[in-house]
Amino acid sequence: MELTQDFKSALWVLEKLENNGFEAYFVGGSVRDLLLGKPSNDIDITTSATPLEVKDIFKKTIDIGIEHGTVLVLGREENYEVTTFRTDGTYSDHRRPEKVEFVRSLKEDLRRRDFTINAFALSANGEIVDMFDGLSDLKNKILRTVENPFERFDEDALRIMRLSRFVSQLGFEVEPKTFEAARELSGHLEHISIERKLVEIEKLFLGDYKAQGIDVLIETRSDEYCPGFKELKLKEFSEIEEKNIVLAWSKLLWISDVEDAKAILKPWKASNQMIKDVQSVLKWFEIADERALNDYELYKFGLKYVELIDENYLEKYENLIIKSRDDINIDGKILMEELKRKPGVWLKIALNLIEKNIVEKKLANKKEEIIEWISSQSLI
Ligand code: ATP
Ligand code: MG
Repeated sequence: MELTQDFKSALWVLEKLENNGFEAYFVGGSVRDLLLGKPSNDIDITTSATPLEVKDIFKKTIDIGIEHGTVLVLGREENYEVTTFRTDGTYSDHRRPEKVEFVRSLKEDLRRRDFTINAFALSANGEIVDMFDGLSDLKNKILRTVENPFERFDEDALRIMRLSRFVSQLGFEVEPKTFEAARELSGHLEHISIERKLVEIEKLFLGDYKAQGIDVLIETRSDEYCPGFKELKLKEFSEIEEKNIVLAWSKLLWISDVEDAKAILKPWKASNQMIKDVQSVLKWFEIADERALNDYELYKFGLKYVELIDENYLEKYENLIIKSRDDINIDGKILMEELKRKPGVWLKIALNLIEKNIVEKKLANKKEEIIEWISSQSLI
């Protein structure tokens, strides 16, 4: 296998581990993506060295999950997650185990992985280690668990949701036994933390084969373990192409006639930023559904949302007289001096009024004119 530049740049990590007498491989999603000819975001490395041994070997490391065997190795340009060969030990509650066991065999490490196409290792000399026939599944575009699907989904039910997510990203078919097990065991998704589910659902939302992914989500009844999804029109959402996660959520809620974005997103423990962004986009959609946005509305949304939602408004935005309060040629201090008034609610009202009238081109952005105009207004 010919390594791409990204892998070549990481070779020094494998070589250093090997020179110290350990085994080391590229592993997981990045190897799958390399075989598919797709770019991948992060290159993961697996090794027979324990975390302490890894920390001894490399000058600069950060503990990012020692208990799971992961050490971040800091390179000159890139950082790499180096994880010790491990098994997931015993499972309880159908969740990823808290404690993992370090092992010295690559095969044990690959066996704990979810799908055959995620269980490749790639050695420094470019050889693919394929212990579970992932290469033929990759060629035939099939998603199949490593070994018995009933056991694998029973161990960690998140894998059932990952199944839909990979269908959405890759457009592969699900192998029948894997599908049957997913449908049978999806009830265990109840025990899976919402944070882990959110990661998979958002990747599903952005996949190139979203319609297929959503079908599998529904057919395996995994959607029943997604808070609020009963209210959402997932099938209609399948037809909407969208590669930005804020817009994806927004469009899903919009077509589902959801007015309270927070009520849906809060149970997902979405970030406050995400909730705020989706609320703003929905507000925009509501206006745009009726008529074009006016200058003051564009001013209030700001450049970020104009760029995110509809670049056709960019020119109109650029032509705004002011872009923020800082652009106004007076401020609160000047106003108080000129009107000889103490701070109070009136000041906020006055500034808002001035701002709005400048944006709407009813008032020139000039100090004297602003003062004269605001003096003639009845403020409280
Ligand atoms: P992406 O490109 O979205 O990062 P990925 O395949 O790298 O996809 P990750 O969630 O980053 O997915 O996981 C990295 C690897 O770890 C997977 O390829 C798989 O081998 C293994 N893995 C991750 N989660 C699980 C799980 N719940 N059960 C078993 N193996 C898992
Ligand atoms: Mg990954």
